[in-house]
Amino acid sequence: MTANEVRVRFAPSPTGFLHVGGLRTALFNFLFARNSGGKFILRIEDTDRARYVEGAVDNLINTLHWAGLNYDEGPVVGGNFGPYVQSERLAIYKKHIEMLLEKRVAYRCFCTPERLEAMRKEQERQKLQPKYDRTCLNLSENEINDNVAAGKAYVVRMRVPDNVTIKFSDIIRGDVEFSSERVDDQVLLKSDGYPTYHLANVVDDHLMEISHVIRGEEWLSSTPKHVLLYEAFGWDVPKFAHLPLLLNPDRSKLSKRQGDVAVEDYRDKGYLKEALVNFVALLGWNPGDDREIFSLQELENEFSLEKVNKSGAIFNVEKLNWLNFQHLRNKPEDEVLGMLKAHLASAGIDAAQFTDEYLIQVIDAMRERVSFVKDFTEKSPYFFSAPAAYEEATVKKRWKPQSAEYLKKLAEELSALENPSKSDYEEALHRTAAALGVGNGQLIHPLRLAVSGMGEGPGLFDIVNILGKEETLRRINSAIESIK
Ligand code: GLU
Repeated sequence: MTANEVRVRFAPSPTGFLHVGGLRTALFNFLFARNSGGKFILRIEDTDRARYVEGAVDNLINTLHWAGLNYDEGPVVGGNFGPYVQSERLAIYKKHIEMLLEKRVAYRCFCTPERLEAMRKEQERQKLQPKYDRTCLNLSENEINDNVAAGKAYVVRMRVPDNVTIKFSDIIRGDVEFSSERVDDQVLLKSDGYPTYHLANVVDDHLMEISHVIRGEEWLSSTPKHVLLYEAFGWDVPKFAHLPLLLNPDRSKLSKRQGDVAVEDYRDKGYLKEALVNFVALLGWNPGDDREIFSLQELENEFSLEKVNKSGAIFNVEKLNWLNFQHLRNKPEDEVLGMLKAHLASAGIDAAQFTDEYLIQVIDAMRERVSFVKDFTEKSPYFFSAPAAYEEATVKKRWKPQSAEYLKKLAEELSALENPSKSDYEEALHRTAAALGVGNGQLIHPLRLAVSGMGEGPGLFDIVNILGKEETLRRINSAIESIK
């Protein structure tokens, strides 16, 4: 690889479902890699064994594939920098801890959890910043060796330099500074032999030759610790880009309650991956003009980190619904046909009773009216079965004492039609109205109610034409019998 090849990673911890915020991070990394001809890497950060959730890794990988964010290196697909799962890299972290201990930029800490807890309580009481008090920093070589020999449990902490300003530059936030006084002597290696996030993250980003660290703003406050670690190892610091927080419409932080924000919940609710990816892309990024509808390929061409904003991005479900409508509308007919059939099957409706031609007519009639595939059966159930009931309010408003008689007349006129087209139906209705000496509306509204059970929908003659003459006549007769 060349020195300036772009290599970015999505580094989730397998603690549950993929959050939409995680999808945004993955997407921005993916887009940046594709846009700059670089590599997109998936790394699993599973060193916090207490938070590990069985099945979460498979779920993550499946969700990324579903969204179309295929990675170039990572679990399952492999690559030259593996393993890509941190729990399989423990020996690597051990070796790097030894390096830091040798350089005396890290030290062993034998303090018991009880002592640390008492210290924390005391700091809290005195309203001091919670920070390790460095008791173990001053242990002599002999004391350390004795403790180790006696099998005392220990962690390894970073020796944070006193009174320095830690500076780094962030592509989105510009120059950032932290005082080292605010940085705790962070634990790097836990007593169970597992590294903490900070150590594993820095070691892996270095060894995997990550050029840009693109992640959520919640990690900004960890970055000074990481910068100190890069310096302690004598390594170059990667470029950083911290993505803006995701906010609810009331500007509170987007709730992390699982279910509310899991990508798979959106998928299960019938959102298209195209819409969700498009929506997530606009959480903090825009193309610099007012275009809003993008395919993944268009996003790959357009994306740049320079156009990501600093301020929090509002998560607006209305917008997502609108994008779903747009992407569904733009889909080729045969794709929608496949989705509609799958939906019918899952709704317990036998799709085989309808010809493709019939379903395609339904799709054409409803295209401008559906945001989700499930809307075909929810908004126009009458294409799939005769109305079992008639909307009460519409009956009240539209069904007049004479309606039954008018429809009887219309049925006679329709029966005489041979192989009618849409306009034949329309003309037959006009003839009937003229013969009865009433306005067309006196027939149109009751007919719509009879064939659909509803007061609204696509063009009435489209519905009638799709249902066909026999079915329309059957429905007229049922309506005459049952609407009182
Ligand atoms: N494992 C961290 C997470 O779960 C990764 C943060 C980072 O990208 O450095 O988000």
